[in-house]
Amino acid sequence: MPDRIYLSVPHMSGRERAFVDEAFRTNWLSSVGPNLDGFEHDVAHLLGAGTRTLATSSGTAALHLVLRAVGVGPGDRVAVSTLTFAGSVWPILYLGAVPVFLDSEPESGNVSPDLVTEYLRDAARRNALPKVLVAVHLYGQHADVDPIADACRAHGVVLVEDAAESLGATYRGRPTGTTADYAILSFNGNKIITTTGGGMVVTRDGDALARMRKWANQSREPAVEYVHAELGYNYRMSNVLAGIGRGQLCALAERVAQRRAVFDRYRTALHGVPGVTFQPEAAWGTHSRWLTVMFLDPDVAAALPASLIARLEAENIEARPVWRPMHTQPLFAGRETVGGAVADRLYRTGVCLPSSSSLSAEDHARVTSAVLDALSSPR
Ligand SMILES: *Cc1c(COP(=O)(O)O)cnc(C)c1O
Repeated sequence: MPDRIYLSVPHMSGRERAFVDEAFRTNWLSSVGPNLDGFEHDVAHLLGAGTRTLATSSGTAALHLVLRAVGVGPGDRVAVSTLTFAGSVWPILYLGAVPVFLDSEPESGNVSPDLVTEYLRDAARRNALPKVLVAVHLYGQHADVDPIADACRAHGVVLVEDAAESLGATYRGRPTGTTADYAILSFNGNKIITTTGGGMVVTRDGDALARMRKWANQSREPAVEYVHAELGYNYRMSNVLAGIGRGQLCALAERVAQRRAVFDRYRTALHGVPGVTFQPEAAWGTHSRWLTVMFLDPDVAAALPASLIARLEAENIEARPVWRPMHTQPLFAGRETVGGAVADRLYRTGVCLPSSSSLSAEDHARVTSAVLDALSSPR
């Protein structure tokens, strides 16, 4: 059996170890220290636009903190893209709030500005407005957030960016994570850069960030004694892992370029195969190409996603379906959903191909030839 080719693996820059060793040398092996300060500072500096940051134990934890900070509580509605990973949704449930799932627009797969505008107008009439809308930047493609932000503002809805997959992407020249009042990032092991596991809150709202920092640190009041006036969590990142993050961040631009090159090579190699298309790059920004997403037209292509994925698995290559829409999840049966047919179709027809920034030319060729094989023989 040839070596396994994974969907998306960590890719060290070689600069992480120095930061990690420094943490050991200085005994900053806990939840405070220079790597944390440095990592938070470096990400805020990279994103610019007056943003501040809070490093957390995961992207999901970061979203939990943000939703609580903007006042989400039991019974509140929170609208969120249906075509996403469950990490976008868990924090809504942690707070006892109610998710409302929004359909995608066909090109980018992101939540559609027209649908948002119509949904909010209708929800206002029904007196059923969400408190927050979480816009996910799917697979590294930024949502078309300006018109979404306008619609949210008109109805007093807070817009939050789930930028877990889009670090390094831009929207109309602005970095992802700076196009709404609040954003979250993820440094999980499969993301474009990693701290092995971790996340971050990004916001210009310094007061909110200070509250989130306290909650993430067990809600310890500034006192010598252990005084707690509010509910807390242990959502801190370790200073050791922040050191990995600092070393990773040095290579972010290169990682985006590499993932984009992986995408380009797939598109070139599979050009002209009947029924094959790729997630396009929207006119409004640069795609991080966290994962290459290919679509198979069921009326034309020689294989459907499930059989293609099985064929690749037989060659020890990991490919995955597109996120299964949240409104089709057993846990969320019967939840309020606006549309859903577009996301369903993207799910039925989409395949994520191995997209690591470290994918070698030989491995890339192995994947494309296996894909070509599967798509040139009858089902
Ligand atoms: C990865 C991911 C998250 C969650 O991040 P974790 O760091 O794994 O908790 C949230 N939303 C999306 C869209 C993601 O892809």
